[in-house]
Amino acid sequence: MQAGCRLPLRPPRLGRAAIARRRGANSSISCRAIERAPPDGAIAQVIATTRAYLDHNATTPVRPAVAEAMSRALAMPGNPSSVHAEGRAARGAIEIAREQVAALCGAKPSDIVFTSGGTEANATILRPGLSDCSGARDCVRAPVSLLLYSASEHPCVRDGHHFPAGQAEAIPVDQNGTADLAWLEARLARLAAEQPGWRALVSLHLANNETGVIQPVTEAAVIARRFGALVHSDAVQAAGKIPLDIEALGVDVLTLSAHKLGGPKGVGAIVFRTGALELADKPLRGGGQERGWRAGTENLPGIVGFGVAAHEAGQALAGEATRLAALRDRLESGILALAPGTAIFGAQAPRLPNTSAFATPGVQAETALIMLDLAGIGLSSGSACSSGKVKRSHVLSAMGVDPAMSAGALRASLGWTTCEADIAQFLAAYAKALAANPNRRAQAAA
Ligand code: PLP
Repeated sequence: MQAGCRLPLRPPRLGRAAIARRRGANSSISCRAIERAPPDGAIAQVIATTRAYLDHNATTPVRPAVAEAMSRALAMPGNPSSVHAEGRAARGAIEIAREQVAALCGAKPSDIVFTSGGTEANATILRPGLSDCSGARDCVRAPVSLLLYSASEHPCVRDGHHFPAGQAEAIPVDQNGTADLAWLEARLARLAAEQPGWRALVSLHLANNETGVIQPVTEAAVIARRFGALVHSDAVQAAGKIPLDIEALGVDVLTLSAHKLGGPKGVGAIVFRTGALELADKPLRGGGQERGWRAGTENLPGIVGFGVAAHEAGQALAGEATRLAALRDRLESGILALAPGTAIFGAQAPRLPNTSAFATPGVQAETALIMLDLAGIGLSSGSACSSGKVKRSHVLSAMGVDPAMSAGALRASLGWTTCEADIAQFLAAYAKALAANPNRRAQAAA
């Protein structure tokens, strides 16, 4: 931070030259990469040097380049809406971030709307009245009045949408957690036959946060389009982990969150395929920021951090997907060697390379979590949003998993800081947890 009365005007070092310089030089990720840039404070230091953090689907450690860009952005004094030089510098930094986020998902920068996170992005879009104004000067095409969302969506979709009761229905999923597209097609056909004035909005996440299962979004979009339905996909868990191209997916709108790909918490985005979607009653009105979709002075450091995280995740994607899939496979084969009866949820479906959800018979997730935490492993039971509450996972329940098995479900999610030593540390700790488990000892003795 610059001392004295002169405040910096220049945007963070994020220009195209800087981006090009970083290209190729992206984080050669070494074991416990986080150790190289520990946050301030003794506790953080201890955490960084002794623990294996396997909870990247809950949130990712911030990438060092992100933290650096954010601290530069924090030192910028201007409001991005101001016309003076300080304001223009802040605006410039936001527009660079917009380009970086757009590049991650094959969108145009002008079709990105920044929000306070994935939850807000989903809550903004999932509203009756969303309409497609393409080719219609007065936006006459029917606004959506029925939401069809998959049963395994994140709670911020299932519970955070704004459709009244009776106008939102869950698309069932099969035992692998894949949405039932035959059901979707039949439901859309029935809607067309019985309520011809109604238009549906289909919401199908690209990848599940608990199991990592990748959904058939492209196929769902083809079906939806035949019936004139609009399509939204929550790509919060997929972005930065698998290739993402809004055109190829054929959806109308995607939603993203920065903190799942090495960016800061509290910033996300709505990504439109075209500028044709409209909503008469937008939730946040005021200063008209973000093309009127999201009023409020922009979170400059957060947005800048999101841009750098999107850029870094995009550059590293191909290599990281292979590296993480190998680590994930080692973790799963290690667990199965320790406890052959372990179920790996969604293993028969395409999955994110970084995620493994599993349960060993006789193991209670909450007990195992505590033991693993004491052994220096950070992971999760089911979704992070419901951890701390002993609650059956709605995802596993929708997949028809036996309640006794889902009570033992753990999720390991790997990311840019994960290395082989983390997997070894986990397997050693899980072996001890299994050995100490009274149910398993009783089973072995019987
Ligand atoms: N969607 C999915 C699939 C998620 O996993 C999450 C967070 O866990 C969200 C949405 C919410 O994102 P945010 O934490 O940015 O509000």
